[in-house]
Amino acid sequence: MNHPLFAPGFKASPWWWEAAEPPKRANSPPDRAQVAIIGGGYAGLSAALTLCRLGHKPVVIDAERIGWGASSRNGGMVSGGLKIASEGLEKRYGVERGRAIVTTGAASMPFLEELIAREGIDCDYARVGRFVGAWTPKHYAAMEKRADYLKRITGMPTRMVPRERQRAEVLGSDRYHGGMAVDAAGGLHPGKYARGLAAAAERAGALLVDETRVTGIAHEGSGFRIATTRGEIRADAVLTATNGYSRGPDGSSAMPWLAKRMIPVGSYIIATEELEPGLIDKLFPGRRMVGDSKRVLNYFRPAPDGKRVLWGGRASFGPTTPEVAAPVLHGFMTAVFPELAKVKLTHAWTGNVAFTFDFLPHIGVQDGIHFAAGCQGSGVAMASWLGHNAALKIAGAANEPFALDGLPFPTAPGYSGNPWFLPLVGGWYRFRDAIDRMAA
Ligand SMILES: Cc1cc2nc3c(=O)[nH]c(=O)nc-3n(C[C@H](O)[C@H](O)[C@H](O)COP(=O)(O)OP(=O)(O)OC[C@H]3O[C@@H](n4cnc5c(N)ncnc54)[C@H](O)[C@@H]3O)c2cc1C
Repeated sequence: MNHPLFAPGFKASPWWWEAAEPPKRANSPPDRAQVAIIGGGYAGLSAALTLCRLGHKPVVIDAERIGWGASSRNGGMVSGGLKIASEGLEKRYGVERGRAIVTTGAASMPFLEELIAREGIDCDYARVGRFVGAWTPKHYAAMEKRADYLKRITGMPTRMVPRERQRAEVLGSDRYHGGMAVDAAGGLHPGKYARGLAAAAERAGALLVDETRVTGIAHEGSGFRIATTRGEIRADAVLTATNGYSRGPDGSSAMPWLAKRMIPVGSYIIATEELEPGLIDKLFPGRRMVGDSKRVLNYFRPAPDGKRVLWGGRASFGPTTPEVAAPVLHGFMTAVFPELAKVKLTHAWTGNVAFTFDFLPHIGVQDGIHFAAGCQGSGVAMASWLGHNAALKIAGAANEPFALDGLPFPTAPGYSGNPWFLPLVGGWYRFRDAIDRMAA
């Protein structure tokens, strides 16, 4: 498909893959494994690395290539906050557990930074900070409350930037009513991080097997028999880390119980062509990662090399292609940065994030099978952290309780993992965003 906004050679694949496309591995599935990990994204790979460090021998199995899922397609924006980190969690789970959940969310960020440094992962990580633009003055006021709460509970340094200072300090646009700046946040190259994490797990002794779909998990003796498209694997323990891909293209799932609790949502990103020198620093003073407070949010950033803009959002709530989504995202982008109206696009792509019915990530055990999933679209740090904590649990090496472990994990009556309701909910959210803005 051609479009006047597409640059010559436009590709419907992640721009990240130009430097770090998930490689094909030659490994075959083993007959036996101590721990079998299903899903080779950040969660599965981080779990594998931790298990190796604890003396275990895991195998990571992915239906596609290792790192092929959200982990090599995301925006690479790193922060330690949970989507719903607020006093509401204290109401829902009690003060102690509610605060522990917020604190553990914040702890994912230093965990990631230490992991990258310790394993020497070359992934363009930079602690540039983050800015969340307020869509309305009401959102600004709510953010102010939330920032105070986060500071009080986690010590996370946050500050509010009013609209008058926005352009000079954080964002070259007047589109938002000010917003919240978080300095303990950063950006990385997600493809390079996935590749580096996989290499670290392999160096530590994990076996990584790709292009092998798990089709069923059965109990056998004290362990498990795992059916795959390339034969059976016996394992003492199993971890499912399939997140937004828990339901396969044919509706099947390695762990149907988990698929019933995941709401896969397609997120779309475009990459612009290289911009004229100096423009990025005008649009992104300080080169922060940026998101906004809309229900149907935008997230955007300069590429790590500072030459182009990467712009993400929910261009569609129904099935569509990156080619169709790209002009829609371009429109969202030029509403914030009108100076990019004539800038063409070199890449557009999509990937699945996983929402849950309680908007929280989870680890736990169901029918003896461990799981780690549900990052609500913010999983660079969190999925790595969940995988690590699931591994500690499998190895019996956790020194303290993990607040996201063993929480009630809701589903909805009749829901099997196919989010047929998304176009309706998405339409309603867009309408609410528009109404909020008109009333602002
Ligand atoms: C477009 C996009 C933008 C995003 N932007 C950001 C961002 O800026 N910042 C942020 O923090 N987060 C972001 N996220 C979210 C983040 O990427 C994810 O939360 C994170 O990568 C999840 O990692 P994971 O290991 O849990 O899952 P994934 O990386 O999705 O891996 C799951 C894997 O499971 C495999 N699998 C599924 N079923 C089977 C089976 N039956 N057998 C074998 N393998 C199977 C899949 O092939 C897949 O590779 C974004 C996500 C997307 C899609």
